[in-house]
Amino acid sequence: MSSETADMLIKEFMRYNDNFAHFTWIGGEPLIREDSFFQEIMDSSKKHNIKNLRVSHSIQTNGLYSPERFDTLKKMGFKIGISYDGTPDLQASHRVGGKNAEKIIENIYQTKRNAGIISVLTKKSVGREKEIYDFFKENTTFARVNLFAPTGKGLAHEKELIPSIEEAKSMLLNFYSLWREDNSPLELRPHREIVRSFFTGFPVNCEYSAVSCYKIFGSDSKGDIYTCSRSIHIPEMKLGHISEGLDKLVDSKPHQKILERYLYLKEKSNSPYFHISCGGCPVEAYSHTGDMMNLAFFSGEPRDALFREIEKDLKNDAKRKKLERKAGII
Ligand code: SF4
Repeated sequence: MSSETADMLIKEFMRYNDNFAHFTWIGGEPLIREDSFFQEIMDSSKKHNIKNLRVSHSIQTNGLYSPERFDTLKKMGFKIGISYDGTPDLQASHRVGGKNAEKIIENIYQTKRNAGIISVLTKKSVGREKEIYDFFKENTTFARVNLFAPTGKGLAHEKELIPSIEEAKSMLLNFYSLWREDNSPLELRPHREIVRSFFTGFPVNCEYSAVSCYKIFGSDSKGDIYTCSRSIHIPEMKLGHISEGLDKLVDSKPHQKILERYLYLKEKSNSPYFHISCGGCPVEAYSHTGDMMNLAFFSGEPRDALFREIEKDLKNDAKRKKLERKAGII
């Protein structure tokens, strides 16, 4: 992405917005751009923030860049998230260029727990939950686990990597119990956010909330705007170019489909948890079935099993108190 496109995006999103803006700089690999590009982003943010919005920026990187670079970017104000699948062998078998796993670990150690870690859970991660969780605990205070749901080029590895429904369920439950029993300050997502939604009634994670999904947009490197950064290979999910202005793109026909899908799936759903699950990610549904109006692959039983377990825990006073603390309610 050129500095001009980044500036145009920041300017327009901040003009349109009245609340807060969060920008995630994501790849490919965003750090192929030099630090001066990221300084320009921060400068644009200041320059265009005429409404005094709350603004934050994060970068999701493959972790192959030097810890000094992470320090520089953190000083500029970026949060850093490193994609790392929890153990060297999992990293090596999941990723193109996985041979660099040792280098990434070294860089994670050097960040001294100052970077978040984002891990993808595949069929190969089943039974390795404790190992992965312990790695998080030692090396970060913020981690996210995402079930492997192939979109775009990832579809080529679907058979080999996608967990079955039962495997997905056991991983979600195992991570939940590891986090629930843990007294360290580690924030594990999406589990923390899911527990929080039981107290607030309002999920914030986009894959559990059609409203959050509707409020997120993706841009490709040319400034073409899509419903999400995960849909930039799907022509039906393109909204237009940023130069047309967000007044035209927000709530346009392809954008409205996110909320239409929610209403359609809600009508058909028998799940008592649909209001905090919402049918899952529309891009995943599209990738699996060719139609975004379907449920996402993991949106049924794996999640419902987790919701049932949380609901059961909330009936126990001691566990409820602990979950309130862990979810940041009290
Ligand atoms: S399309 Fe999927 S990943 Fe993107 S914002 Fe919506 S739920 Fe999240």
